Amino acid sequence: MSEQPYIPLHDGRSIPQVGLGVWQTPDDVAVSAVQAAVEAGYRHVDTAAVYENERGVGEGLRAADVSRGDVFVTTKLWNANQGYDATLAAFDESLKRLGVEYVDLYLIHWPAPHRNLYLDTWRAFVRLKEEGRAKSIGVSNFEAEHLDRIIGETGVAPVLNQIELHPRFQQKALREAHAERGIVTQSWSPLGQGTVLQDPVIAAIAAKHDRTPAQVIIRWHLDNNLVVIPKSVTPGRIVENFDVFGFRLDEDDLNRIAKLDAADGRIGPNPMTATF
Ligand code: NAD
Repeated sequence: MSEQPYIPLHDGRSIPQVGLGVWQTPDDVAVSAVQAAVEAGYRHVDTAAVYENERGVGEGLRAADVSRGDVFVTTKLWNANQGYDATLAAFDESLKRLGVEYVDLYLIHWPAPHRNLYLDTWRAFVRLKEEGRAKSIGVSNFEAEHLDRIIGETGVAPVLNQIELHPRFQQKALREAHAERGIVTQSWSPLGQGTVLQDPVIAAIAAKHDRTPAQVIIRWHLDNNLVVIPKSVTPGRIVENFDVFGFRLDEDDLNRIAKLDAADGRIGPNPMTATF
């Protein structure tokens, strides 16, 4: 297996390009999934306060034979805790649950524009970065106007924006906006929550390369310079989803997948109108 790639962040750090997603994974299952992932070679886990499994993730990392400095841990601030002071308090709680002294990446989970607190929240993130307790700071589900507001007001750009992105929802305009601002794009629901696995174009490309549909989709994210966090709790799939460094898609494959982008491809909430 070729070595796993890392993507540079604008703050001088770097992030493993493939991580394990753990949404909808209870604490006890997170322990075994994280342990299986580290054993398979993953060095990056993506959790969030609202997933209610930070404890399990921390336990899984301690159970696995990996030193803290070799693994990249991301967690996210939930919307109800936005605001300067509330953010600092919620961050402390996340560290406690994870059982770590710092996180590698802290994300604002949603801009929640109806709350109008993401700017104050970002100011608290800048402080956490200065204190070294969040090694890098970023956002999730931000649109270009939200990015420009926090950058304009604080002079600090998020290192990445984690957004819904898969072959049926390719986010070309937002990816372009990220590139212009030096922000890395990270794909959530990279397999479309499993729905894109059945696509006949993906199946044909998988057969051509003697790979699985999941591997082809994850490879598509890698070939597009995206950071990708597929979720599975099944050991065999965890291994399969990480065995993606020994092949590449060709131009014809990439052109065919580019055509799967659909106007109605979004699965999750729209960040502009979500009211949670
Ligand atoms: P996903 O696109 O990763 O799909 C996961 C599902 O695909 C699994 O539950 C399983 O049913 C199937 N699957 C996975 N590997 C497979 C394989 N090899 N073969 C067959 N089926 C397979 O879905 P997701 O969990 O929604 O997204 C991944 C991660 O992104 C989450 O766990 C979470 O960490 C993150 N996320 C973030 C946000 C956000 O708002 N920031 C929102 C959703 C998800």
